[in-house]
Amino acid sequence: MKKREIVIFFLVDAMGWEWIKNRPFLDDCVVYKQPVKTIFGFSSAAIPSILTGKYPDEHGRWNLLFYSPEASPFRWTRFLHFLPNFLLENRVTRKLITIITKRMVKADGYFTGYVATDKLCYFDICEKYNIYRPGGISGSTTIIDYLAKSDIAHKVYSYHDYSDAQAFAALRQDLHESCQVYFAYLPELDAFLHLNADKPEAISQKLDWYEDNIRQIRDEAVGLGANVRLFVFSDHGMAPITCHYDLISELRSHRIDLEKDCIAVFDSTMARFWSKSPQVLDKIRNILADCSAGDLLIDKTLKEMRVFFPDGRYGQVIFLMKPGTLIYPNLFGKHKPNGMHGFHPDDAHSYGSFLASVSDYKPESILDLYQVMRCEIDRIGDRQDD
Ligand SMILES: [Zn+2]
Repeated sequence: MKKREIVIFFLVDAMGWEWIKNRPFLDDCVVYKQPVKTIFGFSSAAIPSILTGKYPDEHGRWNLLFYSPEASPFRWTRFLHFLPNFLLENRVTRKLITIITKRMVKADGYFTGYVATDKLCYFDICEKYNIYRPGGISGSTTIIDYLAKSDIAHKVYSYHDYSDAQAFAALRQDLHESCQVYFAYLPELDAFLHLNADKPEAISQKLDWYEDNIRQIRDEAVGLGANVRLFVFSDHGMAPITCHYDLISELRSHRIDLEKDCIAVFDSTMARFWSKSPQVLDKIRNILADCSAGDLLIDKTLKEMRVFFPDGRYGQVIFLMKPGTLIYPNLFGKHKPNGMHGFHPDDAHSYGSFLASVSDYKPESILDLYQVMRCEIDRIGDRQDD
């Protein structure tokens, strides 16, 4: 009888190479480790790139919010604009808006909006639907679609159904069924590093926790007599915040009215602008070109980074902060993280990680992780057909 094959993929959000390269991490479970280059953007772009093996200009997902006043699922919130600001910008109001909008468009994705409530009606969300389900990224074939089309028994875990601890527990339990491929997306390290990137001891303990859980699952699978192939990787890293920059005051000091002249989104590391007036856009470009806290991204650069969208839906003017520098204050809340990602992909802290119990693969970019998973799935399929 053929030995059971088990392939396990752990996608650990924000498990940056810089955080694990100088410490033991699963050294007894993997034989190969390396940094992997991320793409420019946040998880809303990087994870679709891992799941599809494509760049944002191919799969269409970049920043979570994109300008789309005609099709915005938040259009109805225009009827709330009569409310005083303290009611409009209230946490409860925002939560209610999210719940109602999700119901209205039958969305089950990552649905949140980091803009002022009175600007939400201009935006759509690129991850309206659960990307960890078959058909989750329309127009592209994800690795989840590929698995679903195969006749290989598999399980997928994500935050839609599980906390990280629950995903570990469920996966460990599910090993006792006859699945061959397990894919778990674990997002909680990202949230932890955002808050604690300045606390090395706490980070070390958190990484120990992930290491212990992954090891226990590996051991359980080996204990079942299976041949286990383990892959642990991430979508991007996490840079410690070393500097804050008040970009909003800078723009206002140059007489840009962020209420009337343009629509602006400040995404921690990135500022994006839309305006019907070419003069206003040029003025913003000129101000940002002189700002040493970051870089104005021209079309050529965006094309090279594979995040150029000719219709400007993700921004007609885009400004990226220098690594470690946060746009603060911003227009949304007082949240002041100690770690952030979404800086230039060349920065050391932007790199994700790849760890494997086999040395067959050398993925340079997170896009290559799709091919790694596909090869592993094909390998199982070939064995099944033998
Ligand atoms: Zn994050």
